[in-house]
Amino acid sequence: MDIVAVEEHFWSREFAAHFLGNFDRPPRIMQRLEDFMTLRLEEMDAAGIGTQVISHAPPGGQKLAPETCVAACRGVNDTLASLVAQAPERFAAFATLPQAEPEAAADELQRAVEDLGFKGAMMFGPTNGMFSDEKPFWPIYERAARLKVPVYLHPALPDKRVSEVYYATYAESHPDLLGAAWGFGIETGTLGVRMVLSGVFDAHPDLQIILGHLGEGIPLQLSRIDESLKRPANAPTEFAKTFRNNFFITTSGFFSDSALRCCIEEMGADRILFAVDWPFVDNAGGVGWLKAFPTDPDTRAGIFSGNARKLLRL
Ligand code: ZN
Repeated sequence: MDIVAVEEHFWSREFAAHFLGNFDRPPRIMQRLEDFMTLRLEEMDAAGIGTQVISHAPPGGQKLAPETCVAACRGVNDTLASLVAQAPERFAAFATLPQAEPEAAADELQRAVEDLGFKGAMMFGPTNGMFSDEKPFWPIYERAARLKVPVYLHPALPDKRVSEVYYATYAESHPDLLGAAWGFGIETGTLGVRMVLSGVFDAHPDLQIILGHLGEGIPLQLSRIDESLKRPANAPTEFAKTFRNNFFITTSGFFSDSALRCCIEEMGADRILFAVDWPFVDNAGGVGWLKAFPTDPDTRAGIFSGNARKLLRL
């Protein structure tokens, strides 16, 4: 079985030194994030994963000061390229972009794709409190569409104002509520919806966006969002149609039969890519789940690798 996993992370200390804040992870996670040729390959082999498409772990290019972000992202992309080159048959990469400088981010995306062979970019959360669908970020999407590479929108922690109002009561008793349990999905699902409303896909009809975690809740809500936005007060919007044409979703960290069935029905199986979110999630759980998921061999092979190979030209 050919298996490609597309939301798999690494960590560069040199790059992380530029983050506005400390985002270090527990030792077991850091050890894996910083490893390429030992633990990473061992755990890929043990689960049967042939290829990882690797990106920097959150907060990526979003938590950087405008004056350092361009050089820092250039550096981390060069680092990742040299690590991928150690086993090019096993690794591919998504670029980290200086989101605070969108024109420079577009240029860095182009450099990463054309000079370093990267397969697209990963972006994380709001930049200086601004969601990435806003017009200042469109140069990135224009360039991605022109280069025919996707942009993966990855969760990051919600804005501090949101955290305080929505989650502070449970911050100590349930710290993951703010993140993977709920906050990430709400944050990134909101961005996904806003991307459609922004009109960026009217300007760039071929732009392809990837959302992890089985579409951050949007597939389940798709018909309700679509119906509500067609009510008279709203500007004309083909929400469901646009979402189905311009988004891919991945299985990162979300291994549920019923959720995947919903996604296949709403999106079509050819819009779904396999991902683990290693090392935050273990490879074996993701692979074992999709192998056992009741479906036909073509659908399974497409999700495991065929759809990703086509989209990313692997
Ligand atoms: Zn991730």
